[in-house]
Amino acid sequence: MTEKTGTRDALGNEISLGQLYGYSVDNSGHTHTVIGKSQKFTATGKLTIEVIFSKSALWMGESKENPWIEKGKKVSVKPSKCFPVYEEDIAHYLIESEVDIPKEYQLEMEKPIDSLANDFNYTNEELAVRYNGNLVCVLNPYLINKMKIDRETLEKLKLTHIERAKIFAAMEATDDVFGLKYLAEEFDKLEFKQQALWGWPQDANMHRWFDVPKCTCPKMDNAERLGTKYRIIAEDCPIHGTNEN
Ligand SMILES: [Zn+2]
Repeated sequence: MTEKTGTRDALGNEISLGQLYGYSVDNSGHTHTVIGKSQKFTATGKLTIEVIFSKSALWMGESKENPWIEKGKKVSVKPSKCFPVYEEDIAHYLIESEVDIPKEYQLEMEKPIDSLANDFNYTNEELAVRYNGNLVCVLNPYLINKMKIDRETLEKLKLTHIERAKIFAAMEATDDVFGLKYLAEEFDKLEFKQQALWGWPQDANMHRWFDVPKCTCPKMDNAERLGTKYRIIAEDCPIHGTNEN
């Protein structure tokens, strides 16, 4: 009799491929935490996770970015030690993509983007936005083709993403309510600019205002309402809430 391969997570629920999972391991005083997207089961029954971020702490110290496990690296671990992680909990770590990439192109993403039909023959690197040496996002090749984004516009779009990274970094660095509100307004203006560059209507209802750091408004509920005028505001949100701080 062979042992059935476990396909359940630490909570006993069936692993759902494509979902986010996290686990941590202790190793001679270091605690490493890894969060990533589950991809497949290996032949030996391990779960392959593509790393979104990894942190590490020494003894009782605080977690810091783990330089050994980089974003994009694939690790295979026992399913039973993985806990589900929800997107809104780690929203600020997720690589930004303009819009969800359609399924038929997701498979292609593992090949170089160059192999896609591409009017301007952009390479992966040309679509990648980097700031301070870090990958900020990769512009969606499907949309770049669809909206016929030329090289000049592509460069301007990339600059808006660097601007976004700067605004978000500034928001991470302050708890001043007026500063946060000012920066959130700057992000709102930036989203209008991005809509113009993409050739989309100037539509505030499509803005991802809830993505800004320190915003405590519900992410999923508001993402579902994109395109409508309805917004769900957390009263205690320092940026959008009504509570006096
Ligand atoms: Zn908010």
